[in-house]
Amino acid sequence: MPKERLRPETLALHASYRRDETTRSIAVPIYQTVAYQFDDVAHAASLFSLEKFGNIYTRIMNPTSAVLEERITALEGGVGALAVSSGQAASAFSIQNLARSGDNIISSTDLYGGTWNLFANGLRDLGIEVRFVDPSTPENFRTASDDRTRAFYGETLANPKLYPFPIEAVSAIGDDLGIPLIMDNTAAPILCRPFDLGAHIIVYSLTKYIGGHGTSIGGLLVDSGRFDWGKHGSRFPTLNSPDANYHGTIFSEAVKPLGPIAYILRARVVLLRDFGSALAPMNSFLLLQGLETLPLRMSAICRNAQVIAEFLCKHRAVSRVVYPGLFEGSEGEHARAILSGGFGGLISFELKDGIEAGKSFIDSLRLVYHAANIGDARTLAIHPASTTQSQLSAEDRATSGVTDGYVRLSVGIEHSDDLLADIEQALDACCSGQ
Ligand code: PLP
Repeated sequence: MPKERLRPETLALHASYRRDETTRSIAVPIYQTVAYQFDDVAHAASLFSLEKFGNIYTRIMNPTSAVLEERITALEGGVGALAVSSGQAASAFSIQNLARSGDNIISSTDLYGGTWNLFANGLRDLGIEVRFVDPSTPENFRTASDDRTRAFYGETLANPKLYPFPIEAVSAIGDDLGIPLIMDNTAAPILCRPFDLGAHIIVYSLTKYIGGHGTSIGGLLVDSGRFDWGKHGSRFPTLNSPDANYHGTIFSEAVKPLGPIAYILRARVVLLRDFGSALAPMNSFLLLQGLETLPLRMSAICRNAQVIAEFLCKHRAVSRVVYPGLFEGSEGEHARAILSGGFGGLISFELKDGIEAGKSFIDSLRLVYHAANIGDARTLAIHPASTTQSQLSAEDRATSGVTDGYVRLSVGIEHSDDLLADIEQALDACCSGQ
């Protein structure tokens, strides 16, 4: 590859792989293997002791997955990545790599529901407390933290508010206190580079925009290499004290000849090895196919979403539209500061006639799919009050920002005229009595 810094469109196709040296295959091969033959006993021993890097067993590493990991590392400007079996596994690992029972993290209240549940219940059951704070006041992260706080956590564009997380302000507080910021950038790949704004670790659900075709579940962690774990020794015992999980290795010391990869290396050789949430090589291949066209798709998605958001604002059945491309004043400035090249594919809107209008809108759609997913090349819609949030009381729904007439769209790459026609006829059907 040329040495000058390549742009995302080029990196998505070329970073970290040119051709297979044996067969000259241009497509990344699917290494559908469990194990790899060692040269001899000394070679095997050097791999197990981390003296050398190399393939041991596909639960821990795989050459197809390695291309996916290295390509996203290049796109994000990090030092290393770890592919795992789902976005949920990536979120869980991102915390478990730093926090143990008795520790806490500070998280934004604005989260994907699955992450919320993992944090509020799953991590609590492991003894890790998650303190939720409103991210619109970044100082909340400082106020809620103490000497057992191991990380700050946020989502770049969380539903339903879609207010871009204040990455710069919260990471600056983290730099002050010696606490890393973990950003889930699932909804804004390409549009936002969290490391440029100060974040330390990125989490992805690859299932969404990166895969982009609704075929494969996957997740990924990326390490910026920017956080000095050794400097904050007592706050990060998992990286700074002998790890019984890996025959007494002190990860921040062991990686000194290799570069600032203590976090991502431990996630691989301890968490992935022990908990086993490995990504199948076939899924890595499919996710790489998606990644190749991600920059193109993100542009088309953002263009379509802006057109649809503007159309929704003018429709009589709609009382409110939330889309970062429509934010004004300081909110608009903030969105423009965090995102570049567009404002994403998620639109939240409110139907005036509440729950019945929501159901009728969804049932009237002909082209747009009714599905619990985001980031597909196809446009998807969901009415949370009758589906994902239907088991919550009206009060709890309101707290999570989901009102009865609220609809979420994940805009795809179809022709915008066709999308507008479908959405218009469904809106007309749900307010035909007016
Ligand atoms: N993070 C965000 C922002 C998501 O939207 C999702 C899933 O919808 C996840 C994480 C979890 O990802 P997965 O479904 O790949 O486990």
